[in-house]
Amino acid sequence: MFGTSVFVEGGVNRRSARKMSWESLNSHDFLGGGVSHQLSATRLLSSPEGSRHPLDGFERSWTWGADSFSSLHRDTYMEVRAPRPNIFTWGCFRACRTKIHHTLAKRKVEQGVKLYNQHKQQQAVRKWKSALKAIRKREDKFELLGYLYLAYMDWGKYRDALEFAHKQLYISEELDNPNMRAESYLNLARAHQRLGGLERALAYARHSLYNECEQCVTAGHVHLTVGSVYLELAGFNKALDSFQHAHRIAQAVHDSSLELQVYVGLSELFSRLQDGDKSAKYASKAYDLSRSLQLGDLNSRHHRSLQLGDLNSRHHRAALLQMASALRKQGELGDAQDYCSEATRLALVSGDQATYARSIRIMGDIYRKKCDINKAFRQYETAMGSAAAMGDRVIQMESMDGAARCLEALRLQHKICNCRPLEFNTRLLEVASSVGAKLLVRTVRIRLSRIYHALGDEDQRLHHERVALRLQQDLDMNCGGCGSPYGFERDSLEALPCAHILHARCAYEILRGKNKKKKKACPDCDKVSSKLYLNCNDYNNTYSPIPLSICSSDSHCTSHQATSSV
Ligand SMILES: [Zn+2]
Ligand SMILES: [Zn+2]
Repeated sequence: MFGTSVFVEGGVNRRSARKMSWESLNSHDFLGGGVSHQLSATRLLSSPEGSRHPLDGFERSWTWGADSFSSLHRDTYMEVRAPRPNIFTWGCFRACRTKIHHTLAKRKVEQGVKLYNQHKQQQAVRKWKSALKAIRKREDKFELLGYLYLAYMDWGKYRDALEFAHKQLYISEELDNPNMRAESYLNLARAHQRLGGLERALAYARHSLYNECEQCVTAGHVHLTVGSVYLELAGFNKALDSFQHAHRIAQAVHDSSLELQVYVGLSELFSRLQDGDKSAKYASKAYDLSRSLQLGDLNSRHHRSLQLGDLNSRHHRAALLQMASALRKQGELGDAQDYCSEATRLALVSGDQATYARSIRIMGDIYRKKCDINKAFRQYETAMGSAAAMGDRVIQMESMDGAARCLEALRLQHKICNCRPLEFNTRLLEVASSVGAKLLVRTVRIRLSRIYHALGDEDQRLHHERVALRLQQDLDMNCGGCGSPYGFERDSLEALPCAHILHARCAYEILRGKNKKKKKACPDCDKVSSKLYLNCNDYNNTYSPIPLSICSSDSHCTSHQATSSV
């Protein structure tokens, strides 16, 4: 009836395949801090641990015979390597013709952008692909590949998107352009994040940062990506710190779409830490920004960043979905459903598979909260199916968790026996462990310990309970103020600018303490501070904007932000 076994098996196979390349990557060594900051440009071209990524190597030793690349890709490479026409008349004619072709191709790219903004994705991509063959200037080709990357990411075709990003990297290496390299690495990081390769995503993000000036838009997006990866890995302080970086950059360069995404990230963070109010606050901040972007309030000021930054209005969908999720947690199910349906509708119109799957999952959460377990389960099944088709392990994991909660509800109502929940949670545990989602692993272990208890298997119950407890200790989510844990049950939280999280009451006590002898310092790191982290109400005063001149001194800074501001 539930029909999930097929896709889960696929997931396991994929996992073992990934494991192999994982070991060869050995990315843990890199992440352990073994790589110093004095990396030269040439060393940066290599993979984290020094040897190239298998895919990179494949691209280097490119042969025309390789059949895993389509004719489209072959043309790309042909063109890049084509010799310049010589000075003979024939050559002159060819040069002229090529120039015309190039101009035509550039026009096609622009038409593609227009089409994409009108939600005609298929047509846009067709235009872009035909332009890809004729476009000569590598900078233009790089930008075009960025558009194609975005389109394929929207469609949930992450493997294809990876190929486009690798091609971008190839061009950036040829031109030896650090900003382009930064953008390529960022794109690689984002695709790997969706595929559940979180450690690898972090490694690529780090490479991106080495190549990027500190305060550029691309750097902002890298910090945002790093933040959301840490969110999955349950590294909440690190996530906060990255979001803070991204927020600062967004304010400095006046990039509203980046700012919006930071709020979506913060809302998700507080939602996972069970502070529903804060989650809702940040979600509505994101939604307000998305509304003003939609209405074009910011149009006059930042025309370029609006036009290309919110290509196909994907940030609006993200904001809608975050609102739905936050409202659901607040128990405002009717409103949540409205926001969610709108997000689903827009995702379908724009062919955005990831948002679609996620919105179906959130709709499942809403039904579950309404105690309509059967309907909820069907939603989760659909979401799981489409996540599996995309290879999106993050969404797969989230929807499996929803389904597991449904099964748990049915089990507790004695409507089903213990077998199916046991089997399902065991699979979910595998997926969550392979991704490294520690918070979810803990939840699943606790669920498993309850099921084993019902089955009378005390050894297994104890085992899972012990591991869950150890995980909780590893996560180190203890309030510096009172020492008791936060994030495991509903509570009001605050964070300090050093990105340490405390209970709200403990934070207020430290900051507003009347005792003048006692310094107002973070109990975790001793950093003195007199304000809260990104406080919803006073965030505008909290940060002195970084002068734009830092950025404008580097002419490359803005030239490639277009495709990166997703
Ligand atoms: Zn506390
Ligand atoms: Zn601190």
